Amino acid sequence: MSNKILLECDHLKKYFDTPQGMLHAVDDVSFRLEEGKTLGVVGESGCGKSTLGRTILGLLPSSEGRILFDGEDITHVKKHDMLRLRREMQIIFQDPFSSLDPKMSVYQIIEEPLKIHKIYKSKEERAKRVAELMDIVGLDERYVNTYPHELDGGRRQRIGVARALALNPRFIICDEPVSALDVSIQAQILNLMMDLKEEMGLTYIFITHDLSVVKHISDDILVLYLGKMVEMTDSDRLFENPLHPYTKALLSAIPIPDISYKGKEAEVMTGEVTSPVEPPEGCRFAARCPMAQERCFQVSPEFHEVEEHHFVACHLYSNE
Ligand code: SF4
Repeated sequence: MSNKILLECDHLKKYFDTPQGMLHAVDDVSFRLEEGKTLGVVGESGCGKSTLGRTILGLLPSSEGRILFDGEDITHVKKHDMLRLRREMQIIFQDPFSSLDPKMSVYQIIEEPLKIHKIYKSKEERAKRVAELMDIVGLDERYVNTYPHELDGGRRQRIGVARALALNPRFIICDEPVSALDVSIQAQILNLMMDLKEEMGLTYIFITHDLSVVKHISDDILVLYLGKMVEMTDSDRLFENPLHPYTKALLSAIPIPDISYKGKEAEVMTGEVTSPVEPPEGCRFAARCPMAQERCFQVSPEFHEVEEHHFVACHLYSNE
């Protein structure tokens, strides 16, 4: 696989104006994602990970910063260009039940993007493609005329994957795609997604609150806390040698059989979560961090490389 950069976020910010003040949902996020790779984006609910995904796809306008896709600046693209980009950039949502129209059959749901983008001229060509997509995602053809409520969660998510693949995208944002599913079904969908990545050379951003889910699927993992990047490195290193106190706390919350980060006591996070609305100066994790020093409440730690390809924002690892 090439080392071509497919997606680049450069100091990306997404703020929301609320009655209480400016909510910093995504705050200065920068990374580069190579073609064919998977970036896991992890953090608790409300850390901005889904907002980041939606901002990258243009579903939400960014507040600051730049997004480059295959070298093209897509930060403020026009509607017409967005339609073209939509073929290349897709999303799979968390809850297959609420993201699929209950009034549409499996056939109609998978066919819809083909109709919107007018990729196939005839009905027969579209039918052939729908059958092909159902086969790719492991959905038996007997389900073609069924409706989402007649299927279990795993099959519904296979429809979501088929729909996302319909236009032959190069890049897919997977937003908590398995969190609504039973653990046994989760593994099936994750395996399907990994196989598709290999076979089709797809590039993923895989968003989840559950670190154990992204361990095997991700090349790199980015940990977000209240909109800020706190740690980023390759998946193996993050599990073997996490540096940021927040990452350590997330890892220690995973049941032991699932992780290689062993021999550590479970770290319970105490303290109030800092508000993302007009957040105060200093480290956003300070109120919950067992290692916090006075400086942590006054100065924001820089996100910087502390060893090769291992980035952290924490005063414990700063040189100043
Ligand atoms: Fe904890 Fe301070 Fe590091 Fe923030 S900067 S994670 S408060 S030690």
